[in-house]
Amino acid sequence: MKLRRIEADLWEIAREGRMKVPGRVYSVGPPAPDDPALQQVANVAHLPGILRFSLAMPDIHWGYGFPIGGVAAVDAERGAVSPGGVGYDINCGVRAVTTQLDAQWVRARLHQVVAQLFRDIPAGVGASRALPRLSEEELDVVLRDGARWGVRRGFAAAADDAERCEEGGRLPGAEPGEVSARARRRGADQLGTLGSGNHFLEVDRVAEIYDEAAAEAFGLFPGRVAIQIHSGSRGLGYQVCDEALAGLAQAGPDYGEDYRALPDPQLACAPVESEAGRAYLGAMQAAANFAFANRQVMTGLAVRALQRALGASDAELAARVLYDVCHNVAKRETHLVDGAPREVLVHRKGATRAFGPGDPRVPEPYRQAGQPVLIPGDMGRYSYVLAGTARAMEDTFGSSCHGAGRLLSRGRALAAARGRSIARELAERGIEVLSRGPKTLGEEMSDAYKDVADVVGVMARAGVTRLVARLEPMGVVKG
Ligand code: 5GP
Ligand code: MN
Ligand code: MN
Repeated sequence: MKLRRIEADLWEIAREGRMKVPGRVYSVGPPAPDDPALQQVANVAHLPGILRFSLAMPDIHWGYGFPIGGVAAVDAERGAVSPGGVGYDINCGVRAVTTQLDAQWVRARLHQVVAQLFRDIPAGVGASRALPRLSEEELDVVLRDGARWGVRRGFAAAADDAERCEEGGRLPGAEPGEVSARARRRGADQLGTLGSGNHFLEVDRVAEIYDEAAAEAFGLFPGRVAIQIHSGSRGLGYQVCDEALAGLAQAGPDYGEDYRALPDPQLACAPVESEAGRAYLGAMQAAANFAFANRQVMTGLAVRALQRALGASDAELAARVLYDVCHNVAKRETHLVDGAPREVLVHRKGATRAFGPGDPRVPEPYRQAGQPVLIPGDMGRYSYVLAGTARAMEDTFGSSCHGAGRLLSRGRALAAARGRSIARELAERGIEVLSRGPKTLGEEMSDAYKDVADVVGVMARAGVTRLVARLEPMGVVKG
């Protein structure tokens, strides 16, 4: 593999063999040529209809078929859609909620707050107790309406929550009928549940502001409390992905030479306009809406839990959704390609949309600043709020990183945590963490992740996003 430095933190993988485009890798330090995730970037460059580059963000690591941290845009008519380019947790994503609460005041009541959140937000065994089991008809509405359904059902911080989400909290084109009975069964009792391990609900303090105007537009002020929710489409999305991959393993080679010549069977894909392609997109968009609804329900549960734990009124809390981003999705978007607007399907797998200032697809209150980009770091250090830029629209199909990215596998992290009490180490630094899984804290400790400051630093130096604020954890609920 030939790697060439383009600028400070950006490297190009030269086009060779049957690659249709070169690879472009944003990297913390020089990329290691033997990193299997880099080979995956080159593999993705074989995708039928891929445009300009197979991209990787600085939180890249190995994933199923596509690397996590990968971005690939294909022609929306002639290109291919690949379930492995979305991932198993369809529309896994992050939502941030701002409040007017003073962090020092909350710190004095932190245990009540974290314990209440832990009680009220289920991890995943059984449905959210606050929700009756969904009928088939109502599940169809969830799959079509996403976050809007949750707001209508009263799970909300404020009436305009959904408008403050990517795509208004609802992807068009969802086909609930393409979601199998098995996937629906797995979803029916998991709406409003966090999931395991890497998913979390966090109570943060706004620790530092880098861009005052953008922070003010985003409702971020130093010393206030904000909440982050990280979760996805739970068993429903997993099942949709699994079934699509099984189907494509059979049908894939029938679509022609380009499809037979793919370098990795995990890249299985179908033409966007084929029957299998449409069926997957319809189901995937429905699963994405399930994830939006899931984060919406948890928003409502978290706001109520905070009020209960603190004895605070709506007005005292003044909770409102800052934004909600998808980081595992394929979306139809219009982008400038060679100077002309073009309909593309952007796969973002472990990557976040980062549209620049002035874009009509960014909610009006944020339009001048650029789209809010939510980047969790880890439970012991910090997370960042960024803003998208014009440069992202030019260089990355309006995309950025999605997190710190793993440094250690779960197994290696557990081994490194042996004999330590991660909860006590965090407590000594003023962070209270409660988790359900016995292994979660070891697998998820800070040492298991890259330093997210390095990752967002690469994006900022490349001009793809601007730093707006840093959040620091006070209380964490893990699955
Ligand atoms: P993923 O969706 O790829 O599993 O995770 C996204 C990112 O979330 C990870 O790359 C990591 O940086 C971050 N993350 C994982 N656990 C936590 C946590 O408990 N708190 C915060 N703030 N970030 C986390
Ligand atoms: Mn996930
Ligand atoms: Mn995720």
